[in-house]
This record gives sequence, structure tokens and C-alpha cells, in this order.
Amino acid sequence: PLVQAETDPEKKTIVILGSGWASTSFLKDIDTDHYNVVVVSPRNYFLFTPLLPETTVGTIDVRSVIEPTRFIARHKSRSVKVIEAECTQIDPENKVTHGLLGRYLWKILDSLITTYLDNSDVKEEHAVSTLCYDYLIVGVGAMSATFGVKGVEEYGCFLKEVWDAQKIRTKLMNCIETAAFPDQTPEEIDRLLHMVVVGGGPTGIEYAAELHDFLVDDLTSWYPELAGKVKITLIEALPNVLPAFSKKLIDYTESTFKEQNISICTKTMVKEVHEKEIEVKRPDGTVDNIPYGLLVWATGNTSRPLVRDLMQKFPETQQARRGLAVDEWLRLDGSEDIYALGDATATRYAPTAQVAAQQGKYLARLFKQLAVRENLEIELMNASDEEEVAKKERKLRKVKDVKPFQYSHQGSLCYIGSDKAVADLSLGPGGSLASGGVVTFAFWRSVYISSLFSTRNRALVITDWLKKTALGRDISRE
Ligand code: FAD
Ligand code: NAD
Repeated sequence: PLVQAETDPEKKTIVILGSGWASTSFLKDIDTDHYNVVVVSPRNYFLFTPLLPETTVGTIDVRSVIEPTRFIARHKSRSVKVIEAECTQIDPENKVTHGLLGRYLWKILDSLITTYLDNSDVKEEHAVSTLCYDYLIVGVGAMSATFGVKGVEEYGCFLKEVWDAQKIRTKLMNCIETAAFPDQTPEEIDRLLHMVVVGGGPTGIEYAAELHDFLVDDLTSWYPELAGKVKITLIEALPNVLPAFSKKLIDYTESTFKEQNISICTKTMVKEVHEKEIEVKRPDGTVDNIPYGLLVWATGNTSRPLVRDLMQKFPETQQARRGLAVDEWLRLDGSEDIYALGDATATRYAPTAQVAAQQGKYLARLFKQLAVRENLEIELMNASDEEEVAKKERKLRKVKDVKPFQYSHQGSLCYIGSDKAVADLSLGPGGSLASGGVVTFAFWRSVYISSLFSTRNRALVITDWLKKTALGRDISRE
């Protein structure tokens, strides 16, 4: 079946793939007076990823950091169609011409809600639909990289989506309750209570920090016989953690982790993951097997199959390893009407929410300018008297050149545990400020509260923080 948007045949249709940082920021700003807009994403909500690590131990609830895409779209002047589905194929070859507009066909696979909630690969039934677009916005993000290390997908937990955080929380409580079960051997208790985090980037650091806080604030009270036996180890292949931060903040983070009894093993590579042990290569070349109870794998991003498939359709222009190559206007190299942004792309910027959100905003502006230009061109063609033609030409010149995307870096923030955070802030051209500690943590919280997309989310997150302070975290296993 052909999926139809709330279409006005006079307007072009923009199909947005994804409901993450890039696509949502585009959706918020796109002018629906000019376009029909359809959003396709396997999850029907936006996830505020910076606070996801807090949900793994119940500091805040997952529902507090998600916002339904339909809520975001409800403020638009014309209605937006939101389809919960996964795009499985983009087919730029099957071009169908319709009036003056180039239209392509692609297929979407309707998802079952349960399929995505438990993230299982089992699809009980599915339907394939085809959807037409005039412009396609690819904001499908990236997925967690494993670098081909065997056993990661089977035994490890990623930290990217809501279901990852829920899985981590359940597995953590499984380990703790099993260790508390009578008559376990001391070796088994030590294994179950060894929490290993692989990857010393911001995701791994923030998760280890949250786990530490949960241990100190809550587990110590509820499992006093076990709390002293819980060990947290962070494994990083490079010589230090947080490679993108300044040296001062790296040292501060490493010393804070030391005070918190979080072991950092740098220059250590994980070679293979088994059910109860991981095989690591130490800096001196020796290979060790480390028993673990919970393994959180946070070694960065890799492209999604959909993105790799799209790249193969443009073999001459799409050869970047990190993702889709785009020009300075975020248009896919080799295509006229596909645009890509966020983690799905290979640009000179880091794959962050900050970049994705700015790109989304920029692209919405660019599309507005495109629409205004196209309307002026039509009006110019129809203009009869000279004065009107001159006026339209002047207007057209003003909107003719759309400036390329320019990223403005505001700085980087990372939570490191015990109510401390580190911040590398940008203070205008050439200036920067590196700070770490409790005051930076207060700043960290205020930045994230103000960046949340809705008042509803703000209220929920603040309530969760207050609840945690007054009542502690919930230790029940869902
Ligand atoms: P995403 O936000 O990942 O969104 C991708 C969207 O595409 C999702 O809605 C997904 O469901 C959808 N999708 C996937 N496949 C398909 C398909 N086939 N068809 C249709 N839709 C599809 N960055 C910062 O700047 N600051 C931070 O503090 C920060 N903290 C982070 C904490 C964590 C735990 C993580 C994992 C990341 C963090 N990041 C942070 C990075 C940031 O989240 C990403 O850079 C950002 O999410 C990228 O936005 P995106 O829209 O490209 O991708
Ligand atoms: P990352 O790419 O930043 O870090 C991954 C780390 O894993 C690297 O340091 C890498 O050396 C290490 N690694 C890779 N393979 C390994 C192996 N086999 N064994 C041991 N270590 C290995 O990944 P991330 O932390 O998931 O972050 C992804 C993106 O999201 C980044 O751009 C980051 O800036 C952004 N992010 C930002 C924040 C924040 O600003 N607070 C939080 C989370 C994520």
C-alpha cells in the first residue's frame, strides 16, 4: 500500500527518517506552511540521550527523558504524519516523475510495538509499505560499535536506547540479588559483583559514575553485606579516558575515579567476551581472563545497515568509513534531494547531540529559504509589469544564496560521580575554560534542564531528582 501524508498536492513532501536529535530539531523548526511533512521512525518518541545514563540506576525514570514525537509535532501550523516504522530501504533509482517534481520510492517495514520495546529481532508479522518523497531527510543516527569483538552482542549491554538502559538496570539487579542468594561461593559472589565498563569515552565514564553513586547512596544501605564487595572496572584501549577533553580534566576525572574506587585499565583491549569472563590484552602484551557479572559496552558508533545500503547506491561519492558524505549544505554527495545529518553522517564534527541539533535547525531554515525562493521564481514568471518584476528580482537576490552550515561549539560536559562534573567550555573565538567539581555539576544540571525539549520533561526530571534526594533510588527489579 502507498502511505499518504496529509498532503496538499500543491506542496512538496518531506519525509524525515528518525526521531532523534537531528530529525526532531529539524521537525521543530520546519515550516509546514510550505511542505507536507512525514516522520518515519521505529520509536515514536524523542530520547534526551544526555540523561540516559541516569536512568540505568533509577536516578531518573526513562519516561522523564522521552517526549512523544506527536507532542512535538502538535504545535505545527499544518498536521504532520508520524509513522512508527523502520525504513529498510531507500531506492533512489526508481524515479517516478510527477509533474515537475522528482519522486522516488522507498520501502518501510511496519513495526510491531513489542518488537521495538523489547528490541527482539522476532517480528511476528509485518507489512511493507512504499512512501513517496520529494525531499528525504536521513537522521537515523548510528548504532553501537563492537569492532567485531566476539560475544559483545550476546553477553554485553549497550547504552544507546531506552531498552538498553532498562536491560542494564535489570541485569544489575539480577547480579546483586543472585549474589545475595544463600550459599553462593565467594568466587561467584566476586564475579557477580564485578561490573565492567568497556570504553572510556563520555558514555562509559558517565555510566561508571552513576553506578558508583548507586552503590554508595543506595546499595550500601540495602545490601550492607555485599556493598563492600562490588567492584567497578573501566577498560579503555587508549592511554587515557575522555580523549576529547583537556589534559587537566582527564587527570581530574582519573583522580576522582581513583577516590571512588573505580579501577581504570588504560591501554587495555578487550579481545573476546564470554558468558562470565572477558579476555583482555594488557599493555605488556599478556592476555588475561577477567570474570564479570555485568558488562556495559560503550566503544562508540558505527553506521546502520540502512546507511551502508544507501552508500552503496552512490559508489562514486559515498566512500567515507564513518557514514554518509554530505556537502556544506548537508545534501548527500551524489544526490539532488536527499539530505543527511547527525550521527548518520561523516563530517568533520564529533557525533554529538549538539552538532545534530544545530544541523537540524539549520536544515529547517534552508528548506524555508528554498520554499520562499521557489515561490518567488513562480511569481516572477507570472509577473507582468516591470516594477513588480524588479521588486521580485530584488527579493529573489536576497534569498538566492543559502549560507553553508556552520557549527558553533558550546563546550563539552561530562558527569563523573559524587556530584561532580567536568566541563570544557568554549568562550568565544580562541577562548576556553576547563572546570571540574561540584559547582560544575550544578552547571551541568542547569544546562541539561534548560536543554530538555519540553516543560513536561523539565518538571518530570526535577521531580525525579528531588525524589531521589528525599527517598533514595528504587532498587526493585522490574
Ligand atoms: P539519534 O539521536 O540516535 O536518532 C536516530 C533516530 O533514527 C532514532 O529515532 C532512531 O529510532 C531512528 N532510526 C534508526 N533506524 C531507523 C530506520 N531504519 N528508519 C527510520 N528511523 C530510524 N551528545 C552531546 O552532545 N551531549 C551529551 O551529553 C550526550 N550524551 C550522550 C549520552 C549517551 C548515553 C549517548 C548514547 C549519546 C550521548 N550524546 C551526547 C550523543 C548524542 O546522543 C548523539 O550524537 C545524537 O543522538 C545524534 O543524533 P541523531 O539524531 O543523529 O541520532
Ligand atoms: P567514544 O567514541 O567517545 O569513546 C569510545 C572509547 O572506547 C574510545 O575512547 C575508544 O578508545 C574506546 N575503545 C574502543 N574499542 C575498545 C576496546 N575494544 N577495548 C577498550 N576500549 C575501546 O564513544 P561514546 O562515549 O559512546 O560517545 C559517542 C559520542 O557521543 C561521542 O561523540 C561523545 O562525545 C558523545 N557523547 C557525549 C556525552 C557528553 O557530552 N556528556 C556523553 C555521551 C556521549
